[in-house]
Amino acid sequence: MKEMVREVAAYLGLGSSLGDRLLNLQTALQRLTKTGDITIEEVSPVYESPHLGREPEDAERYPPHLNAVVRIRTYLSPVVLLERIQRVEAEGGRERNISWGPRTIDIDILLYANERIKTELLEVPHPEMSKRAFVVIPLWDIAADLILPDGRELGQLVASECIQRQPLRRYAQTLVGWQGA
Ligand code: AMP
Repeated sequence: MKEMVREVAAYLGLGSSLGDRLLNLQTALQRLTKTGDITIEEVSPVYESPHLGREPEDAERYPPHLNAVVRIRTYLSPVVLLERIQRVEAEGGRERNISWGPRTIDIDILLYANERIKTELLEVPHPEMSKRAFVVIPLWDIAADLILPDGRELGQLVASECIQRQPLRRYAQTLVGWQGA
């Protein structure tokens, strides 16, 4: 039986760097909503940025990523939501052979309500989110007033030097096509 909790807002980060990247993002959104227990409320523009790997050379070695952020509403608990996004990653042909490597689809739980979660399986807010322009900028597009569970304002992160110096370009205004499931 599904573990159900109250309905909450959550933010997911999506990325793709292999194959038809835009289509991979669109298809992932269709798959997330397929069973009716996740509603997509808001979808950010799509951004492109160089591959962020373990080594600086990875940016040249691997293709650039497309990223977007979505706000969802769901009754699923954090753990069940994680299982769901991992299923969607698997359906999208995600292979976990190179960590920090290129991928057809990657989905992260960035925020879940105002909760802080730290277990072996799941850390929320996502531990890397505040350092990554390809997360912070699209998140700001759809939630400019957001305050993180630790009290930091998203707008301050956006203005930080760490975020501003990262290469990022707007690739598409909307992620059109995902509703056509
Ligand atoms: P990745 O390679 O980025 O898809 O990371 C997947 C692993 O990160 C899985 O084993 C998850 O259990 C773990 N993980 C921890 N926190 C999160 C999160 N907030 N969102 C998604 N995966 C997470």
